[in-house]
Amino acid sequence: MKTFCGRANPTTGAMEWLEEAEDYDYHQEIARSRYADMLHDKDRNVKYYQGIRAAVSRVKERGEKAIVLDIGTGTGLLSMMAASAGADFCYAIEVFKPMANAAVKIVEKNGFSDKIKVINKHSTEVTVGPDGDMECRANILVTELFDTELIGEGALPTYEHAHKYLVQEGCEAVPHRATVYVQLVESKRMWSWNKLFPIHVEAEDGEKIIVPPSEMENCPGVPSVCDIQLNQMPSSDFTALSDVVTMFSVDFSKPVQSASTYYRVQLEPVKSGKAQIVLSWWDIDMDPSGMINCTMAPYWAKPTSTLQWRDHWMQCVYFLPKEEPVLQGEKVYLTACRDEYSVWYKLQKAREEENQADVGAESPVCRCHAHLLWNRPRFGELNDQNRTRQYIKSLRKVLNTDSVCLCISDGSLLPVLLHCLGAKQVQYFIPFFRSLQCSLAFFSHILFKANHLEDKIKILEARPELLKPSHFEDQKISVLVGEPFFSTSLLPWHNLYFWYARTAVSSHLTSSATVLPQSAALHMMIVEFQDLWRIRSPCGICEGFDVQTMDDMIKDSLNFRESKEAEPHPLWEYPCKSLSDPREVLTFDFKQTVPQHCLSTEGSVNLLRKGKSHGAVLWMEYHLDADISISTGLMKISDEKGNCEWNPHCKQAVYFFNSVIESETLSDPGAITYAINFDTKTGEIAMDFKL
Ligand code: SAH
Repeated sequence: MKTFCGRANPTTGAMEWLEEAEDYDYHQEIARSRYADMLHDKDRNVKYYQGIRAAVSRVKERGEKAIVLDIGTGTGLLSMMAASAGADFCYAIEVFKPMANAAVKIVEKNGFSDKIKVINKHSTEVTVGPDGDMECRANILVTELFDTELIGEGALPTYEHAHKYLVQEGCEAVPHRATVYVQLVESKRMWSWNKLFPIHVEAEDGEKIIVPPSEMENCPGVPSVCDIQLNQMPSSDFTALSDVVTMFSVDFSKPVQSASTYYRVQLEPVKSGKAQIVLSWWDIDMDPSGMINCTMAPYWAKPTSTLQWRDHWMQCVYFLPKEEPVLQGEKVYLTACRDEYSVWYKLQKAREEENQADVGAESPVCRCHAHLLWNRPRFGELNDQNRTRQYIKSLRKVLNTDSVCLCISDGSLLPVLLHCLGAKQVQYFIPFFRSLQCSLAFFSHILFKANHLEDKIKILEARPELLKPSHFEDQKISVLVGEPFFSTSLLPWHNLYFWYARTAVSSHLTSSATVLPQSAALHMMIVEFQDLWRIRSPCGICEGFDVQTMDDMIKDSLNFRESKEAEPHPLWEYPCKSLSDPREVLTFDFKQTVPQHCLSTEGSVNLLRKGKSHGAVLWMEYHLDADISISTGLMKISDEKGNCEWNPHCKQAVYFFNSVIESETLSDPGAITYAINFDTKTGEIAMDFKL
């Protein structure tokens, strides 16, 4: 069997389907999986172990045999905990074949083969009976099927089925219960991830305002969860309008219903303000008494306990369909609606007589199409006034009333901005690879209409290399602009597609045309991560169990394809310390066309600070003109310790080193050498570091 993998070609922007070997998917899944992160989650592991021991004891005290069902066994960890705690037999179910195979090996290596049967099936396919997968129903149900939103990985239907067919009535469940908490907040920063704010433009002929389309105002957006490391959100970036309250709980020891439903709580605002956001997280009680509790509460909600860093479970940001003013002490009702896999929220002033059937039914559907086009960080980027100011400043220098402009970017506001600044004619080019072209056309239409520009901006739906003089009414382009931003870009340099598109339209430019940005530069810096290193670090022994097989498997999968590749991470969520100075390693001159030959560089970096070199971070800087630059990575090194501030709207590229070097002294200049190569044929960057 062959696997076809789709990805955008960074030189043409086109989607390409590459044939990959059968095991490609497996390796991708494992290399990018959160298994390593889970195994490093000490708090989770310890509490599962305590909960499992307690459940086994309760069953034994009743004089019963302890028969465990572990759904989603992964490495087999929770089954091995149960077997060590004295369980008589464990059925360890794992749907993902490579993991089920690994579990068999790990169970054997740890000497539990006679106590644990690994079954490579989805739990809903498991049979019970003399000839079945399980001889009898289990009386202990152990699972870890949760995501940041609790239910997004299908925990509810899995539990529903397990209670019907796989476990005994009155079984013990570890975890016993999950509880979802919410807090109503006002936050300009987070709200800017959901709505487009008006943009004030200082033009020659006075101030103009770019307004968002009215369709956006009440748009409920999309139900996909926004999960972030809330612990990186400073308290100055939001105002709590309510206390933290319990939204709903699920008792996993009783039959679970997965059908759509809703929960409602009354909130008494502790402050007046604009209700915009619901922050949410959950905890799990490993035992019925609630003594063994594993919580995702952020720093301000659990100030006493030490925070466990983890990336496999974070916190959720939910956006209300529109902002609602609330008054301190004046009660409001918050409703959480959910279907089998997702949750969304509504806020009401008074308890309106609701038709029960209505409430849970309508999962949010984006009406303005912007929520389909842009992800949360992209909204944030478009709302970044500083960034817009930089564009305005540099565009004002080059635009005049005769300018004929072509804008190459995905779902950009630049065409509207160009108009405000007085450009005579704006051609707006829609890159053809967009899978969401209809949404883009729709959104552009309502945005242009809201700003009375319907007839003024032309959308070109052709590949850049197919554009003809007639597309431009036989005029030459005098100003070519881009952000550059393309929604298919995974790594920072994929936005260099702008350069390729610019090359393709060269013949339509005047001889003195301005290209803005005029160039880009790739920057690199060696860092020590506070925590992110864990996702690539072997675990070895986890709570006394040897899980090295898993480490080896992850290493294999990384080597399979990814080892020489960087991976995207939004570093504002993952603190790190710079160990070297940031350095410009490659430059890309947009005034020229893309050269035929590769661009490469070599060098060595000095480590300026003591620390562990976990990897290199790479990002792009765009030089709009000679004086104005925009960084998509490092904003500044904020203190002497080397703590960094990153662009909050962009992902940076992280290249993890195979081994970590610890620089104790700084006597070793040029400790790290690098070779970086930009292949102009493929648009990809390959790199190699030697420590
Ligand atoms: N129990 C392990 C791994 C948890 S990750 C631990 O705690 O460390 C969850 C695992 O459950 C994944 O490997 C996933 O493939 C598997 N899974 C999810 N739903 C499942 C289902 N309904 N049946 C079988 N496996 C499932």
